[in-house]
Amino acid sequence: TNRKRPLPDDNDNDNNDNNAQQVAEHYNTRRELGVEGRLHTKITGLRLFNNWVKSILIGMHTFRGCKVLDLGCGKGGDLRKWAFAHIGEYVGMDIAQVSVTQAQKRYSELHNARFPARFYAQDCYGEPLEKTLQPVDYRADVISAQFCLHYAFETERKARQMMRNVSEHLADNGTFICTIPSANWLMKKLYTTDAGDLAFGNSVYRVEFVQREPVSVYGFAYAFTLDEAVEDCTEYLVHMPSFVALAKEHGLELLYCTGFHDLYSQNIGDRQNLELFQRMRVVDESRPYISSDEWEAVGIYLAVAFRKIAK
Ligand code: SAM
Repeated sequence: TNRKRPLPDDNDNDNNDNNAQQVAEHYNTRRELGVEGRLHTKITGLRLFNNWVKSILIGMHTFRGCKVLDLGCGKGGDLRKWAFAHIGEYVGMDIAQVSVTQAQKRYSELHNARFPARFYAQDCYGEPLEKTLQPVDYRADVISAQFCLHYAFETERKARQMMRNVSEHLADNGTFICTIPSANWLMKKLYTTDAGDLAFGNSVYRVEFVQREPVSVYGFAYAFTLDEAVEDCTEYLVHMPSFVALAKEHGLELLYCTGFHDLYSQNIGDRQNLELFQRMRVVDESRPYISSDEWEAVGIYLAVAFRKIAK
């Protein structure tokens, strides 16, 4: 496997294509477990739980016939969720060409996809989307960035380009939904580990920082490993106040920012959400609980939504 150490902070050194390439390579070379294989890993519960969260988010923010732009769409793991939400049109973009090809294949094999879809391989954070996206004035009703936006926080330049991409291609009153690791959660965990220790985790995940004190808002790197999913991948803390301020500058207001544990408590009481939880087999007879190590890892993430304010 290609192990990557987090890079020391080299903020706003715009020479960051290296890391974008590393990320692309990381996802391009990932082992494909297949549907059956993915049902029997240490993180099956966590993966299914995260899928349930994404389904809830998608259900909350889509409407029949809406146009969706999925930035960092990966292998198209959410295509069925979008189909289920009866969207009108889908555009998937990702930096990893291999993943984009797999997403395209997945779309062509989808039986209930009654929406047209197109896919582009490109860096969605470091570059303007118009480089590949057609038409150039394309606007989506919903922009989604699931488990990938933290890569944009490597530098301020990248984060700004990402925000410009979102703002320019989102319709007025459209929503931007994303799932990101919580910087507060990670920092709290770091500060409660033994003094001098830069790593923490459990049997399913591991986080390793290069230093204890953040020196700036952007480029605060850590290596993240999640059993069977990512190994030592360099990620960046998303400093929420800066993210919200940047979004505001680009005409987007924060609707909510909720940790996955809270999102679960707030939504599991709803009959439809509970049925979905059961249908998606997040837990079942053979696996009646999500393991406590998986549940801790679930708590890393935040669900965030913004609305583009109409001018
Ligand atoms: N959104 C998908 C999901 O939820 O299943 C994939 C999530 S995967 C953990 C992260 C994805 O972000 C990878 O497919 C990776 O290639 C993509 N990614 C990372 N940096 C990117 C960038 N600069 N532009 C576009 N995609 C990027």
